[in-house]
Amino acid sequence: MTLPTTHVSFPAGAVAGESTVLAVHPLDGGRYAVVTGATPFHPLDHTWPDQPADLGTLTVDGVELAVVDCLTGAVGPDGGAVLVGADIPVRRGDEEWSWLVLHVLAADPGDIVGRTAALAVDAGRRGALSASHSGCHLLALALNEALAPRWRKDPGRSDAFGHPDFDSLAMASSVMDTEASTDTYRLGKSLRKKGFTAEAGEEFPALADALPELTEAVNRRLAGWVAADARVRIDVPGPELTARREWHCELPEGAARIFCGGTHLHHLGELAELRTELRLSDDGSELVAVTRPKRA
Ligand SMILES: [Zn+2]
Repeated sequence: MTLPTTHVSFPAGAVAGESTVLAVHPLDGGRYAVVTGATPFHPLDHTWPDQPADLGTLTVDGVELAVVDCLTGAVGPDGGAVLVGADIPVRRGDEEWSWLVLHVLAADPGDIVGRTAALAVDAGRRGALSASHSGCHLLALALNEALAPRWRKDPGRSDAFGHPDFDSLAMASSVMDTEASTDTYRLGKSLRKKGFTAEAGEEFPALADALPELTEAVNRRLAGWVAADARVRIDVPGPELTARREWHCELPEGAARIFCGGTHLHHLGELAELRTELRLSDDGSELVAVTRPKRA
């Protein structure tokens, strides 16, 4: 069976919509996945699972069904089975494949194919995840700036403000929840080879000793950006789940942009505060930033 790639409205901030049910697929564990033509639900991405799934409800013929998870599914060029998450053998966006938002139900919804579903995302949870995700991108920019003096040479990749892109060069994992974004950076040999130093230099102490000062510099920058109430938007080249979207934020220092498949605030004034906490592992091999937004 071939299904079209799902059209998504979450990049613009939508939390509700209506669409035709195209298919229902049984999943492992007695669960079922409902596929619609379009949806406001943000699914967990199988390639870069940073932002957790939206939860909510799907209402068909007056019957409300709880969406207990939301996953990325894919169907290969020859049709066949819907593959889910880690079982998908290609990277997100492979143009030969169809990419589907799977609304996961705990039980069989019965014969609902062809019916119209009203889709409603848990807006409170979405808002909290969007705040954490916006905080994650701002942390990246502020951390890149604070660590810029520690690069002994140009690593060949810089962020929107021209600072060496520590965030993307050292990133091991990035995970958001409704409370915070946790970004883990690996300070290994390959980062050193690219020119980063965690050791003391003429202008700075060893990274471990510099942490309080770095944390303060990052938090000062984040506070300034929140106070500036900078506008945030997602550039959407097309309605498909797999379109290459870009996060834009008009910060006082200039326009920042980062490729991103998630959801975000509309402006930073939706936050009362954004603070990060930096921790270095005992052996110095891992830097972790936990960035907490407090909503206004
Ligand atoms: Zn992102």
